[in-house]
Amino acid sequence: MFVSQIGHGRKEVAEAGARQGSELAYFPLWSYAHPRAIELAERLADLAPGNLNRVFFTTSGSEAVEAAWKLAKQYFKTVGEPGRYKVISRDIAYHGTSMGALAITGLAGIKEPFEPLPPGGIRVPNTNFYRAPDFVAGDLAGFGRWAADEIERAILREGPETVAAVFLEPLQNSGGCFPPPPGYFARVREICDRYGVLLVSDEVICAFGRLGYYFGSQRYGYQPDIITFAKGVTSGYSPLGGMLVSDRLMEPFATGHASFLHGVTFAGHPVSCAVALANLDVFEKEDLLGNVRANEAGFRATLQKLNDLPIVGDVRGDGYFYGIELVKDKATRETFSDDESERLLRGFLSQALFEAGLVCRADDRGDPVIQLSPPLTCTQEHFDEIEQILRSVLTEAWARL
Ligand code: PLP
Repeated sequence: MFVSQIGHGRKEVAEAGARQGSELAYFPLWSYAHPRAIELAERLADLAPGNLNRVFFTTSGSEAVEAAWKLAKQYFKTVGEPGRYKVISRDIAYHGTSMGALAITGLAGIKEPFEPLPPGGIRVPNTNFYRAPDFVAGDLAGFGRWAADEIERAILREGPETVAAVFLEPLQNSGGCFPPPPGYFARVREICDRYGVLLVSDEVICAFGRLGYYFGSQRYGYQPDIITFAKGVTSGYSPLGGMLVSDRLMEPFATGHASFLHGVTFAGHPVSCAVALANLDVFEKEDLLGNVRANEAGFRATLQKLNDLPIVGDVRGDGYFYGIELVKDKATRETFSDDESERLLRGFLSQALFEAGLVCRADDRGDPVIQLSPPLTCTQEHFDEIEQILRSVLTEAWARL
């Protein structure tokens, strides 16, 4: 689940949680604060790009996304633009399972049983270049311009005065790791500024080293108005999520009686904050960002060796986050039918990869993919092992088709 940045068995992280539990088990962040939350908030604000200096904690990624949408809505109501409530996000993108986050999610199959969802979720194309429309196929920059301009077209179609925010992952997970084409985020930022729409970078996966930087937006060089995070902030040793918000968005709530009317009891739990601080200590001590940056080219090159297999259509990603799209016909890029995909992924691959010792994700929420998100401590020997397991299991999968 894209969580384990520092790997398992780190006693110093577990012990930091235990120490905190015996010192102060719980204290609310409603109206109050506690030392570990303050220290962690300061540390995150220092690491975050630009003026993202305000931290709001949650317990999960869905809650972080929910909080970001609620903040956007309340912010616009407070500053006299009450009509702005809609959110734009991308096809097949996953943003969580609570009602608001689900309305932002672009996966029809997991939404349908819960309709009607909160109104205002608008979809635009994602950046799957492998499946780009014919008129931009083969032109990565042109594809990126088109995909970004689709956001502008959606804003104009809906009416800019109704659109609150655009929610984008730096590198889209669901569908199998779609990196942004060059220039994509610069153009999205321009479009958001032109129409007064907030840019929310959903970094529940992409923050904390997954792409070789503390935040995915730093890797691709754009400035969000809000970053949502979870998962890697504690490397899974304890649950925590949150959002980093620009000073500007918190201004209406910083003075007088106005406050952001949202929160959950266990948000920023002291044990989780202590664990997050210890997790970040490991990042620093072991220069994990440096490790990802030094080794990501090796990871890419090793996975690309799999391109010689007939079932491998595309290998894509950045940092330590890759998707391998599986196809029935390499030349035509034909994908599998729903039945074939079911048999391939759930009937064979998930189990076979796990049994062979590779914990990864076989997913067909878009086209069938295998997703890899190794701990940031990994080096070439681990990439070789990953490649060998994939080669043998994918070769057997092809033979079984
Ligand atoms: N946003 C993104 C981009 C995610 O990948 C996820 C979970 O995978 C979420 C939000 C939801 O996070 P959680 O499962 O912690 O609620």
